[in-house]
Amino acid sequence: MLLENLSYVEVEGYLSEKDVVLIPIGSTEQHSPYGLIGTDFITAEAIAREVGKRMDILVAPTITYGMSQHHMGFPGTVTLSPETLISLIKDVVNSFLEHGFRRIIFINGHGGNINAVNTAFEQLKYENKKGIFQIISWFLLPEVQEMEKMIFGDKNGYHATPSEVSITKYLRPEAFQTKPSSEREEIEKIETYWPLNKEEFKKVYPDGRMNSAPWLAKEKYGKLIMEEAVRILEEKIKKIVKMEIL
Ligand SMILES: [Zn+2]
Repeated sequence: MLLENLSYVEVEGYLSEKDVVLIPIGSTEQHSPYGLIGTDFITAEAIAREVGKRMDILVAPTITYGMSQHHMGFPGTVTLSPETLISLIKDVVNSFLEHGFRRIIFINGHGGNINAVNTAFEQLKYENKKGIFQIISWFLLPEVQEMEKMIFGDKNGYHATPSEVSITKYLRPEAFQTKPSSEREEIEKIETYWPLNKEEFKKVYPDGRMNSAPWLAKEKYGKLIMEEAVRILEEKIKKIVKMEIL
């Protein structure tokens, strides 16, 4: 059930029975020469929409920009500052709260968003807002990580991972016709500090990958990993839906 396809009358009907909404959030940032700039929001959106469909719960329009400052050395990347992202999340949550939503769950595809989103939740709680505010990052779910390890071993890395690239390959195969098909044997294992600014990031990760082998991505892996993420998210959200709001 997509919010963007409903009328306000239908939303009123939904709210008479349910108070949960899923909000996909990702980023618009480089994912190496092998992956799509939209990877993080494309994956989060597809996973959230599939969960919403199976559970018959409302999915809000996707937040396609995130906190991507360290990727700004690569063209096509668009970043929000952490301050902007905190304000954006607060405004979105407050809007849903005003109409009676109480369980507001962000399905996240980008690690760089987590700190700001949680800070927004803490600020909302400090302002005594009633409800359950959660961010669930599909790629951090232990069951998903286990599957990724089984498929890609230690070549998944932290950014432009073959897992996320596989999901986008499964969802948008046509976009990969123009991406390199060359495979490399070795991946560099780099240890560095964090956070990095855009120059530091490019120095350490010149082609945008972070210890990953995105050329290993395959549609069939994407289907498997997405299915596992959806399955675990369903379990988690079922628990949140049953939780008592204090
Ligand atoms: Zn990503």
